[in-house]
Amino acid sequence: MSINRPIIFPKTNSGNFVSTEPNKLAFNDGWQYAPAPESTDHVTIDQRYKLFIGGEFVAPEAGRHFETINPATEEQLSSVALAGEADVDRAVKAARKAYNGVWSKMPASERSKYIYRIARILQERAREFAVIESLDGGKPIRESRDIDIPLAAAHFFYYAGWADKLEYAFPGRHAVPLGVAGQIIPWNFPLLMCAWKIAPALACGNTVVLKPAETTPLTAMKLAEVIRDAGLPPGVVNIVTGAGETGAAIVNHPDIDKIAFTGSTEVGRIIQKAIAGTGKRYTLELGGKAANIIFADAAIDEAVEGIVNGIFFNQGHVCCAGSRLFVQESVADEVIRKLRDRMETLIVGDPLDKNTDIGAINSASQLETIESYLKLGQEEGAQMYQSSCAVPDRGYWCRPTIFTGVSQSNRIVQEEIFGPVLAIQTFRTLEEGLSKANNTPYGLSGGIWTDKGAKIFKMTQGIRAGVIWANTFNKFDPTSPFGGYKESGFGREGGLHGLGAYVRLEA
Ligand code: ADP
Repeated sequence: MSINRPIIFPKTNSGNFVSTEPNKLAFNDGWQYAPAPESTDHVTIDQRYKLFIGGEFVAPEAGRHFETINPATEEQLSSVALAGEADVDRAVKAARKAYNGVWSKMPASERSKYIYRIARILQERAREFAVIESLDGGKPIRESRDIDIPLAAAHFFYYAGWADKLEYAFPGRHAVPLGVAGQIIPWNFPLLMCAWKIAPALACGNTVVLKPAETTPLTAMKLAEVIRDAGLPPGVVNIVTGAGETGAAIVNHPDIDKIAFTGSTEVGRIIQKAIAGTGKRYTLELGGKAANIIFADAAIDEAVEGIVNGIFFNQGHVCCAGSRLFVQESVADEVIRKLRDRMETLIVGDPLDKNTDIGAINSASQLETIESYLKLGQEEGAQMYQSSCAVPDRGYWCRPTIFTGVSQSNRIVQEEIFGPVLAIQTFRTLEEGLSKANNTPYGLSGGIWTDKGAKIFKMTQGIRAGVIWANTFNKFDPTSPFGGYKESGFGREGGLHGLGAYVRLEA
């Protein structure tokens, strides 16, 4: 008989599950899983990465580089080119040449073959990508292996399928590509965000200049290798690395036709101002402060698991993380007790260990931000509870944390923390739950937990957010659009809507 969970050994601090019989779990103090680290043997990371421009890896003109580190060990993984304005200009020129000369003229069915090829190579190299994603970004290998990389490949497959069917996507209209797209992405889903941006752009006939985040450039550079190996015409995809200044050089370049940005609301505002009046198209996917709402009639154990998944897994580094929890008053004590019990079983540590639930915080500065909010929450008078798990000595770590006794006006309730930190409030009636959930400047996502379909319909209609999950959370699919209301952004990515953001429709 096979046991489908790892063997577990005693540990010093309390609170892990121990298997007494195959597939059966019991709560037991003093036990832990044996380490199950993913091998890194099959992965090569170069000491230095260049820029990917015009189908070649080229040195940055000013010769400058920056370090990318492993946030779980604080060790340098590689040194990466810092692109300046001249490099961005070179990348935009390569993209324009490829757009005019090849990509916009190529039959759409040919374009789709290249995109399929990217998807297939990504699948073949999935393990390598998953390990590098976890090394560079700190996310648990379980997440990068089961979510990030398969979903990235799925996006390329999905949009490859649309490339020669745009007349069905926009019936009665003629879809014309926009030209050169400048794409700027954050560090929380490095490869997946590349796929969200590049796949629909290419499918519609645009060429791109993409900039990954400065703390997670490595899988984008590996994707550049895949794009080269897939034989894409030079200049169709260009990848430039750097921080805010490189991003600003893309935004301000006069020959860019569209900006697609995912990141903070603060930088989204800067970008919106910079391109006002230029005629550039844009989509902005910004911050969030999602509400998870648990009604008394919900399946409580499932709801607790969904809450844990929504805010603690992936270190809360998700713009649609369920960082506010509203519980109907009659079940609040039960939910909080079960949540605290579950928090005690969460394993924080080595991102490459397959048992890890919560990996490393992405960077020292992000950890500083989270810690400043933990301090602020206590100063605002909330009660803080953190799990008692041990964390490694080196690297950037944050234990799963909940705040109770918070009020609507508290900054920890209103502002995006982007860490494993949950603010819990109660409500009595559906109307009260709805109005509290909507009391936020953001509107990216939300979750409802109830046994009653009618409540789901009522709440999903009332909550002002782009994505609402019912009795589940953080589920993604390339066919489904994603995007925000209010300060969470503008425009949609994914699905048919995601195509619309990369075309001009003519009669
Ligand atoms: P986060 O808080 O998630 O790091 P940011 O908005 O700071 O989000 O960063 C998201 C992306 O935007 C990164 O690739 C970053 O380098 C880039 N960026 C930061 N500042 C600017 C700017 N002024 N113009 C364009 N891009 C920027």
